Amino acid sequence: MSTLEIKDLHVTVETEDGPKEILKGVTLTITAGETHAIMGPNGSGKSTLAYSIAGHPKYTVTGGTVTLDGEDVLEMSVDERARAGLFLAMQYPVEVPGVSVSNFLRSAKTAIDGEAPKLRTWIKDVNTAMDEVQMDRAFAQRNVNEGFSGGEKKRHEIVQLELLDPKVAVLDETDSGLDIDALKVVSEGVNRFKKDGDKGVLLITHYTRILRYITPDHVHVFVDGRIAEQGGPELADKLEAEGYAAYTKSAV
Ligand code: ADP
Ligand code: MG
Ligand code: MG
Repeated sequence: MSTLEIKDLHVTVETEDGPKEILKGVTLTITAGETHAIMGPNGSGKSTLAYSIAGHPKYTVTGGTVTLDGEDVLEMSVDERARAGLFLAMQYPVEVPGVSVSNFLRSAKTAIDGEAPKLRTWIKDVNTAMDEVQMDRAFAQRNVNEGFSGGEKKRHEIVQLELLDPKVAVLDETDSGLDIDALKVVSEGVNRFKKDGDKGVLLITHYTRILRYITPDHVHVFVDGRIAEQGGPELADKLEAEGYAAYTKSAV
């Protein structure tokens, strides 16, 4: 059972006018078995939070801590974070020219486990994971994210989730650009990942739509680099009805 603990996290990003503080003290604990939704208006810093947990070099942590089961995540390299059991699906996944999905998945699995997966079971597992998200098996031979549609990128993320089996998954705008069928497939993938109750999920989204398929235990409203309100799933319904206006007015 794992716990991802974020305490008073402050993060700046380098801009043309110098460093700008984006995260202004974020505190959040995700315990195994829990799904937390972070919802907030555009530009409030949601992706910055995801990138900071991922260890993206553009983002500088100026204060606070992030730990996974007591281990200092901020001290870890990006690879070490993955080995420790963190999975981060990004809002804008990068293309990896010349690397096929198949090779990418196998290298990632090998890096995380410390040994290459057995070929026979691995191929079966990859095929099963692709079938589950209704992705053509030929997809495995394509280069990672090259010319992928929005839906294909997100399905590929679910395939990774399935195969890499992390402890905690951070999913940034997994619902963006998805039609209703893809949204269902992706949501079902996240729910399969969650089903044994030993995983943590941090689901970052701008829209409440995905929360009809993935029920969060906790909802956090994110405004101007901070959590402005916390609640249960009913908070998502309130946001659906009222939007973020009430928060953004008081945040300015
Ligand atoms: P969200 O995901 O909630 O829409 P982001 O985390 O992407 O918000 O961005 C938060 C704020 O930080 C925005 O004002 C954005 O312009 C700024 N920001 C994020 N990354 C950078 C960057 N690399 N350079 C300059 N500004 C950035
Ligand atoms: Mg934001
Ligand atoms: Mg974002």
